[in-house]
Amino acid sequence: MILIGLDYPIVKKIDWANAIFNNYKEQLRNNLVIKELLKNYKEKIDNTWLIMKNTGVCDICMRCATLDGGSCCGDGIEDKFDGILLLVNLLFGCSLPRSREIPNGCWFLGKNGCKLIARQVICVNYLCKKIYKEISLDKIHRLQTAILEETEQLFIVEEKLKSELLKLGV
Ligand code: SF4
Ligand code: SF4
Repeated sequence: MILIGLDYPIVKKIDWANAIFNNYKEQLRNNLVIKELLKNYKEKIDNTWLIMKNTGVCDICMRCATLDGGSCCGDGIEDKFDGILLLVNLLFGCSLPRSREIPNGCWFLGKNGCKLIARQVICVNYLCKKIYKEISLDKIHRLQTAILEETEQLFIVEEKLKSELLKLGV
């Protein structure tokens, strides 16, 4: 089976990720290197969220989404996800929705925000003008460092998963 890429509809990619997860979850979860890489990646994700909270970015985005009707999580961003990134989310215990909950919103957007733990680079590193206006440059730099560490770790996780799946004959 091929490692399903960006060209496929989101439902196909979700089906692929669920099938791989159901068939190989034990092998992937019991692989000590993958386990360690996922643990490191989750720490990086948590660190990014903590810095977003501490720098006030979370509050700005919350205000934007609830009071100004703004959001960056639009319809079509789900197409930036490939099968491997969806598989990473399954390994983190997320379930992948079978339909879009928010009209005109991203497939993975719910009433309480994003339903995923592992997000695309585009989701993690987008900071709009509003944020640049309200947050000091020093805080922006701290955030950018955390974002870079998170996205680099995601790349390492994805490459390791691809090579393990190839070894498993996927
Ligand atoms: S990044 Fe900007 S546009 Fe997106 S939710 Fe935050 S404040 Fe709103
Ligand atoms: S953060 Fe989540 S809901 Fe928003 S665009 Fe990215 S995947 Fe979609």
